[in-house]
Amino acid sequence: MEQLLQETLRVFETQFGREARWVVTAPGRVNVIGEHTDYNDGFVFPMAIERGVIIAAAPAKASDDIPAGQARIYSVAKKKFVNVPLSGEILPGEQVQWFDYVRGVIAGCLEEGVQADAFVAVIHSNVPLGGGLSSSAALEVATATLLEEITGKTFNPVQKALLCQKAEHVFAKMPCGIMDQFISAMGEKDNIMLLDCQDCTTQMVPFVSEAMGILITNSKVKHALSGSEYPERRSSCHDAAKILGVASLRELTMEQLEAGRDRLTDRQYRRAKHVVGEISRTLEAAQAFRDSNYAEAGKRMYASHDSLRDDFEVSCPEIDILVEIARGIGPDGGVLGSRITGGGFGGCTVTLIEMARRDSIMQTLRDEYVAKTGIEPEMFVTRPAQGAHIIS
Ligand code: ADP
Ligand code: MG
Repeated sequence: MEQLLQETLRVFETQFGREARWVVTAPGRVNVIGEHTDYNDGFVFPMAIERGVIIAAAPAKASDDIPAGQARIYSVAKKKFVNVPLSGEILPGEQVQWFDYVRGVIAGCLEEGVQADAFVAVIHSNVPLGGGLSSSAALEVATATLLEEITGKTFNPVQKALLCQKAEHVFAKMPCGIMDQFISAMGEKDNIMLLDCQDCTTQMVPFVSEAMGILITNSKVKHALSGSEYPERRSSCHDAAKILGVASLRELTMEQLEAGRDRLTDRQYRRAKHVVGEISRTLEAAQAFRDSNYAEAGKRMYASHDSLRDDFEVSCPEIDILVEIARGIGPDGGVLGSRITGGGFGGCTVTLIEMARRDSIMQTLRDEYVAKTGIEPEMFVTRPAQGAHIIS
């Protein structure tokens, strides 16, 4: 992040001809285990990554020549300036643009009575945009953190995460769960967050061993969907819960599911089996991290992948190849577990590795993935990072 910070400060000086007064950051995230459990009132287990958004800002001056009560913001990624209002009625645009994430957060801050005076800012990020590591939540949470810093007012972290989630719902038109904004706002170094999506409570689970790390591998594929895939998963889960007489699959045990199997279609049964199993696996993996039992944690990650591939059917050949290469390297080669992470049908895998073997693991994954698919993957290793904070 140090390099990103230096670049941000340099761009700020180039664009605005002075030094930044405020510098804030918020991280991207990866979900270690607990996939498609959020909308079933289950648990997810994300951690903040050592990549994020940095925003540098300063009070506006007359020479900046920006309309009263507005902010002038430059995105390095987009190579674009935009003026955004800081007061009055702020409404979502017709088509979602990158600055809608910022506008949505400013609108949410205004609702909470937090209003900043005119400022100029540079946004810079090393979270790949649209890569499944939640560059969007990082941008939202960094924006909210900047407004806190500028105004001297603070939100409680849950309120801040919910405000950012609302920006994503209303301004980015993305009906996401609470995970991304929660972990970006509240992540802690060397900890993974066990988040209960039923009541929004969190527990920090220590991931203490610096000998272990998380390897994120981008398959570089994103399969085109017909649009019915996610709604089908949701309604299958919802219908299975309803048929079996529970408020959500969170309330169901595997025994109850097996006892009620005849009343479900085969598809409903398999979707529910994934969710019920995944909720247990997530809790077991969290306990394994607490116990520094990384072999057990890794087993749950593999089991999660198998379930997402076979029962929930959200994997794809390229992702399966990455997980199988990781499995092939095995514990002797320093790999303890691997799985698809994110919504599915492409994106990234998350792999639990021994840090000392990181180079050989990455080499093998790259070589074998290229040989089998012709695609060059992108990879980086991270430890759990701190959530949003003020840099200076
Ligand atoms: P993900 O969150 O998985 O990276 P999303 O589609 O949810 O993917 O969010 C990506 C969008 O967020 C981008 O297309 C862009 O509109 C916005 N965004 C994220 N980071 C930045 C940035 N640094 N500058 C401008 N826009 C950004
Ligand atoms: Mg996103």
